Amino acid sequence: MLDALYKPKSVAIIGASTKEFSIGNRIIKNLLDFGFKGSIYPINPKADEVRGIKAYNSILDVSDEIDLAHVVIPNKYVPQAIEDCGKKGVKVAIINSAGFKEIGGEGIQLEKQVVEKAKEYNVRVFGPNCQGIINTSSKVRAYCNFTFTKPEKGCISIVAQSGGVGEVINQRFSELGVGIRMYASNGNACDISIPEIIKYWGDDEQTRVIVVHVENLANPKEFMEAAKEVAAKKPILGMKTGRTKEGAKAVSSHTGGLAKVDIATELIFKKCGIVTFRDQEELCQAAIAFANQPIPNGKRVGLITNTGGPAIIATDEFVEAGLEIPPLSSNAKKILKEKLYSAASINNPIDVLATGGAEHFMAAMDVLMNESHIDSIFINFVTPFFVETDAISQEIVEVNKSQKKPIICNLMTDKRQWTETMDILKNGGVPCYSLPETAARALIAMTRYNDLKARESGKVTTFNDVDRKKAKSIVQKAKDAVRGFLSQEDVNNLLASYNIPVAKWKLVNNGTEAFKVAREIGFPVVIKVDAESIVHKSDVGGIALNLKEEEVESAVKDMEKRFAAEKPRFFVQEFLSGGRELIIGAKAEEGLGHLIMFGIGGTYVEVLKDVVFDITPITAVEAREMLSSIKSYPLLSGVRGEKGVDQKRLAEILQRVSQLVTELPVIQELDLNPIIAYEDRVFVVDARIRI
Ligand code: ADP
Ligand code: MG
Repeated sequence: MLDALYKPKSVAIIGASTKEFSIGNRIIKNLLDFGFKGSIYPINPKADEVRGIKAYNSILDVSDEIDLAHVVIPNKYVPQAIEDCGKKGVKVAIINSAGFKEIGGEGIQLEKQVVEKAKEYNVRVFGPNCQGIINTSSKVRAYCNFTFTKPEKGCISIVAQSGGVGEVINQRFSELGVGIRMYASNGNACDISIPEIIKYWGDDEQTRVIVVHVENLANPKEFMEAAKEVAAKKPILGMKTGRTKEGAKAVSSHTGGLAKVDIATELIFKKCGIVTFRDQEELCQAAIAFANQPIPNGKRVGLITNTGGPAIIATDEFVEAGLEIPPLSSNAKKILKEKLYSAASINNPIDVLATGGAEHFMAAMDVLMNESHIDSIFINFVTPFFVETDAISQEIVEVNKSQKKPIICNLMTDKRQWTETMDILKNGGVPCYSLPETAARALIAMTRYNDLKARESGKVTTFNDVDRKKAKSIVQKAKDAVRGFLSQEDVNNLLASYNIPVAKWKLVNNGTEAFKVAREIGFPVVIKVDAESIVHKSDVGGIALNLKEEEVESAVKDMEKRFAAEKPRFFVQEFLSGGRELIIGAKAEEGLGHLIMFGIGGTYVEVLKDVVFDITPITAVEAREMLSSIKSYPLLSGVRGEKGVDQKRLAEILQRVSQLVTELPVIQELDLNPIIAYEDRVFVVDARIRI
């Protein structure tokens, strides 16, 4: 569907310029230099030719069909240019011109006009305010872009929201001698979106790896759907920038996005199965391995080395990332004992010794390929002057041909002297790195992709024992009363309608009532002040805990005095002692649903910051994962003879909260803090809901 964009047979440049240092000139130069296979039509009413190619007054004067048009003219003329494109039957327009949404005000209006014209005239738009695309295929050679990096042919496709980041990644691949397949940087993305491009590459056989850079997701749902589908077929390596508040601000001022700290995008990446990076170098290095090697089926690494130290560094990296270095089978050891030098180490890592030659490497690789409990092979290869290193490279390449298990090589050498040794590996498709940690991280990334792919998150459970009608009416009532926060009573009833257990409670007007109710509930009890103006009760001394029979009335009297101005009522609640205080929260995210949070709760939640997030709706597996991903998980599972808490019930409550906010999207924030959990029971004791 994006064939006209990526495989154009003809390209027009509206705003082609005779000035050397202009975008309208540069694009033509790039197309020519890159060996574009189609025809080029410069459009310029004032010139007869641009870069030696006949120029036209208007795109409508060109008799040939035009697939793709660059628009490189001042912003206010762009809507008209799109109309002309439509009349001419142009399929896609790349609007390189800036001065749209990113400048705000009239720019936003202009971009709207562009979108309207494009719809009316059936032209797809890429951009505006963008670089363009590249297709390295020898049948196309489209460099519809004004930048400078001329990539080699390869199987990595790059899409970057920021042209700057895209160019840096493209350039880095060039320096590393790695080719790319296609490239896209679509700027404001008013029509053709990153998800659409990802989907297109999902179907492009020559694209083996997709690299995605985003600053913010215009349409998170669309992104999730596309990325999930494609990541199941081929690896997507993702990077999200603008993670800090300051960074996000920088994003908003240069791409017209929203200034907000965005934790949702990384969660989305994870949920789609995208391998996430925080570092461009690490991403590029990993991409090389993904481009050449099969994905490991698990996290068990077999190492071969001919030098000690670097193998230790790699081992540390693997173990810290949760990978395993399992011992070898006795049969494997027997073979190695026979074939390697007697001083060699026949454990994992296998140390073939610096004097080890091609036959020793061969034996070690053979053994690891045949060990069914080894998923990937890491070779640590230093090039001593006294062995035939070219022969070792040839053996590695030979074994690599089977593509049965991934082989990653840390090649420690002087690249000027051992060029042949290095080239044999490179041409044989064995990814080589100069540092053990770089090599290890590339393999770790591949293993992460396998984990993400193998992850069965299951289906979302819908609880049908909930009273949706009642829940809706509670929310509606608060909406009608234009209340931001629901009353405590409403909150408790709402939770109860979703079968979320709340500690026994009752609302009363005075001390006498409180005493009566407390007797029904059972002592000791808690008294909490309840008034619309009070949000954080303990901050203002509105909580009296652990009250005995004789203390209830006076506690209420005292609060009546102190909070007289708020005209309060009072909550009587059973006092729950000795449980773990936990928190569950939810927050609406534009275009996405809600983020849901779980962690250690109570009054120290901001201090401890031991919380994790996910995106609703969550499945049982995801709820369980949330519980086990907090740092203090041992507190939930039981530590030093102390009992753990009812995790099954907690996971269910998480899912019920997820369902509640999903079914009641007007809820902006929900905060259950604390939830008190015991070995066999869990209760919410305090909750706030904002609509
Ligand atoms: P707020 O968050 O408005 O200050 P909470 O109702 O959360 O008020 O109460 C503050 C703290 O008091 C809780 O974190 C918890 O430690 C304790 N607490 C509140 N209710 C109970 C209860 N029913 N049983 C035991 N402890 C409670
Ligand atoms: Mg609280």
